[in-house]
Amino acid sequence: MLKDKCGIVGIHSKDSSNDVSSLIYYGLYALQHRGQESAGIAIHNNKEGLKHYSGMGLLTDAFKNFDIKELNGDVGIGHVRYSTNGQPRFENCQPFVTEFDDDFIAIAHNGSIINSISLRNQLIKEGFKFKSDSDSEILCYLIERENNKTKNFVKAIENISKIIIGSYSLVILINDDLFVMRDPAGMKPLAIARKDGLLIAASETVAFDVLGAKFIRDVVPGEIIHFKDNKIKSYLTESAYLTKNAHCMFEYVYFARPDSTIDEKNVYQVRLNIGKALFREFPIDADIIMPIPDSSIPAAIGYSRVSGIPYGEGLIKNRYVGRTFIMPTQEERELAVKLKINPLVSELKDKKIVIIDDSIVRGTTSKNLINLIRDAGVKEIHLLIGCPPVIAPCFYGVAMANKNELVAVNNSVEEIRERLDVDSMGYISLDSLVEAIDISANELCLGCLTENYPTEIPSDLKSNNYHL
Ligand code: SF4
Repeated sequence: MLKDKCGIVGIHSKDSSNDVSSLIYYGLYALQHRGQESAGIAIHNNKEGLKHYSGMGLLTDAFKNFDIKELNGDVGIGHVRYSTNGQPRFENCQPFVTEFDDDFIAIAHNGSIINSISLRNQLIKEGFKFKSDSDSEILCYLIERENNKTKNFVKAIENISKIIIGSYSLVILINDDLFVMRDPAGMKPLAIARKDGLLIAASETVAFDVLGAKFIRDVVPGEIIHFKDNKIKSYLTESAYLTKNAHCMFEYVYFARPDSTIDEKNVYQVRLNIGKALFREFPIDADIIMPIPDSSIPAAIGYSRVSGIPYGEGLIKNRYVGRTFIMPTQEERELAVKLKINPLVSELKDKKIVIIDDSIVRGTTSKNLINLIRDAGVKEIHLLIGCPPVIAPCFYGVAMANKNELVAVNNSVEEIRERLDVDSMGYISLDSLVEAIDISANELCLGCLTENYPTEIPSDLKSNNYHL
């Protein structure tokens, strides 16, 4: 299973009559799928300055012993985290906060800074003391350092875009100013919206829907936005002109909620297109089409619509299961899989089924699920995958696996089919995936599929076969 990345929200109110903390909370709730490991909110109000709170676990767990009203304020940011860099521990919860002179900076980051090791060493030499092992803390100190030089926060933020390499969508609270920034390749999603006297930034548009806000636009890759006095001031960094877009294709395939629209492409529609393309490439005469829930549901519907074969549910997901522990015995591991997903024998027995999954990384989850389906007495299983073979690690914040753990690196499709024990299998082609997303291949990151990454990869990361 791939680990999700992070979700961020920032809200600025035109006056102090609005309390934005509960809105940030509900915005984060809508982004919970992007990270379940910790959650936090940082708020500013004119009387008390900065206040912040964070905790481990799902948003509701992190805030269960805390009254959100204590964070009243008219501007703030929030974060839900899944560790892609740094260990899952309290010190790594975001937003990160640093105070200096009479100022403070709070940052919430989605992405991964791939030159963080050298930047961290440099900052330590310069006297900065780190509280966490997360790459996101580096950003606070870099802004502080650059602001000491420039005495201008926009310039300080622009300067850091020349120093950091990697993926970053950011909401940055500096005193009562809210800044929003997207990396120059636009790898991670970030958009802005408006509601009454509020300006809102969020990782995915679903947060705007939940808050009843009106979508304005995606943040342009390489753009810095300053929300001030209910106005949007936009600055394009130099790197925006020098870098071509590289939107992460996995947002469409797996990460984002289907009811979000990212860079003008609706995720549900993309997944429907993937299903239709799978039928074009692998037309199978089956009794029923089924998804591996949840992210493959639209693709299975797409396959069903063009093939005319009925869509059905053969695997029922228990949506109340959080993390399961690593089980020592095979029996316990099987129990853990069944806790999450239970086969529906009446839909599976004696049927010839096409089952659609969004992607295969290590192959272990797929194997467990196929075993469940086989045990339910199916006649034939035809497995189709809505993403081409993953043959390389991601360095930009998607915790996939080391290269040697990826099943497609050392195995042909036929070998994977045998290993998974299915009657046939097929991956969508790269061309069809790009066509389904409807963004030119030149403007997508396809690094984990092609090993052509949109940025340079520091040699220490590459040679260690390190995954973030
Ligand atoms: S390498 Fe793959 S998962 Fe990582 S950003 Fe690029 S497309 Fe997304």
